[in-house]
Amino acid sequence: MENEVVSKNFIEVEIDKDLAEGVYDCVHTRFPPEPNGYLHIGHAKSILLNYGLAKKYNGKFNMRFDDTNPTKEKTEFVDAIKRDIQWLGADWEDRLFFASDYFGQMYEAAVKLIKKGKAYVCDLTAEEIREYRGTLKEPGKNSPYRDRSVEENLKLFEEMKNGVYQDGEKVLRAKIDMASPNMNMRDPVIYRVAHMSHHNTGDAWCIYPMYDFAHPIEDAIEGITHSICTLEFEDHRPLYDWVVRELEYPHPPRQIEFAKLYLTNVVTGKRYIKKLVEDGVVDGWDDPRLVSIAALRRRGFTPESLQMFVELCGVAKGQSSVDYAMLEYCIREDLKMKRSRMMAVLDPIKLVIDNYPEGQVEYLDAANNLENDALGTRQIPFCRELYIEREDFMEEPPKKYFRLFPGNEVRLMHAYFVKCESFVKDENGKVVEVHCTYDPETKAGSGFTGRKVKGTIHWVPAPCAVEAEVRLYENLIDEEKGVYNEDGTMNINPNSLTVAHAMLEPALKDVRAYDSFQFVRNGYFCVDAKDSREGALVFNRIVSLKSSFRLPQKG
Ligand code: ATP
Ligand code: MG
Repeated sequence: MENEVVSKNFIEVEIDKDLAEGVYDCVHTRFPPEPNGYLHIGHAKSILLNYGLAKKYNGKFNMRFDDTNPTKEKTEFVDAIKRDIQWLGADWEDRLFFASDYFGQMYEAAVKLIKKGKAYVCDLTAEEIREYRGTLKEPGKNSPYRDRSVEENLKLFEEMKNGVYQDGEKVLRAKIDMASPNMNMRDPVIYRVAHMSHHNTGDAWCIYPMYDFAHPIEDAIEGITHSICTLEFEDHRPLYDWVVRELEYPHPPRQIEFAKLYLTNVVTGKRYIKKLVEDGVVDGWDDPRLVSIAALRRRGFTPESLQMFVELCGVAKGQSSVDYAMLEYCIREDLKMKRSRMMAVLDPIKLVIDNYPEGQVEYLDAANNLENDALGTRQIPFCRELYIEREDFMEEPPKKYFRLFPGNEVRLMHAYFVKCESFVKDENGKVVEVHCTYDPETKAGSGFTGRKVKGTIHWVPAPCAVEAEVRLYENLIDEEKGVYNEDGTMNINPNSLTVAHAMLEPALKDVRAYDSFQFVRNGYFCVDAKDSREGALVFNRIVSLKSSFRLPQKG
């Protein structure tokens, strides 16, 4: 046997046990989003976890919309969710389901419970049901309608279905135990009247099942073995098991809970993201400052980087929050070898080489990625007028400043040494032009060893530079300052977006949506898919190059 070190997460340990004991002979998982918003990074974790388990155990993975609540659900969200899951690489093959397709079977299941004496129609108002429910310290009281006969319950439930009653007039409740220490077991409501159109079933139904009743049925119908969900459902597990048991499904699914993923300094949670979108704080669900999957894609994250991130996070039972810097680490790691390293000047200032002949152009060879020869080389036109970063010139430099200042010589990346001879200021005293001379002996790749310079700066040729809008991001919120202000509004970082008017190498002229690059010194950038136009490019900074982040040591 090979001596391999495999560390399993606690869910895998449970699955192994189930398989060994013969509880199940295969693994079948699902991802069940409610189509009431866009998916976010937390959902990505759940998707990749469920899909990953199915793959690892040679099992199956279902995609199922949990669309049992018609109030908030929309087709726009259904389409967005499908796109996001496909992009992440989780393949549901031909198993795309809608909980609403099972409304008929759920109705039959409810009838079965009534016939077994395990469910009853209750006329108490929502308010009264709450009062009768008791508290954590005190048991609840039985509803006066609890002992209705099976016949009466069947008739009333059918009338509920046939639209005889108004919203809230009657509900169907499971008959379990009003004194249970678990509040979820105190005769929970399992069906309610709601005269509402559904995005899938239209006006076919005016009663809708509650989540805790519907979910185990959906899992059982699809033959799910391990129904993996987040911790807030732990207290609902006895009810899940009750539903599955009372309905006598031959292969009962098993619910296992894990901790939600939280990230520092970002908002996860559909509710919060929705509020930012509706308040116009951000430009839609895919605003690159958000961590919805659509936003991460637009910003330039790759499916591989999110997979790596989810792997590193692991699966735990205890709540914790992960440093946003770890997500940045993953995208840097993913792009490092895969992307070309281009020159782009974010805050341009003109550099004129006085001794370079006017009108002359030469093409310099540059490796696209020094660490990966497979990415090949490109040619960069070099000429008399260039752009450099404003911060790469100083009239009066501090100590240890090795870039351009009067009298100093630097290397222009992939090109020649240039020495600063003079500079021009405008009427406000702002430097607008730097003048240099170049030394033809010092061409990059020529083997010149005559002398050394300490600084290397990047540049772009001015006459053929490509103009672009570049968007630089910071976190939308700063946790240390508190997520909320005293008046309940969110504390939004005013610098979460800054816009730069950049000049790029001509090789970047024909980029397409989602193409990404390293811009040397400035970070990784991605072509914005929403706002970029031909001749008016927009780039998003995915992440800067530097980080103090270190991978946590696994112990
Ligand atoms: P939110 O709290 O963001 O509104 P939700 O749980 O209401 O999310 P659903 O569409 O109901 O969203 O969830 C689909 C699946 O994703 C559920 O199984 C849920 O447990 C899981 N999920 C939701 N948020 C997270 C998270 N932060 N980390 C891991 N899994 C999550
Ligand atoms: Mg939800």
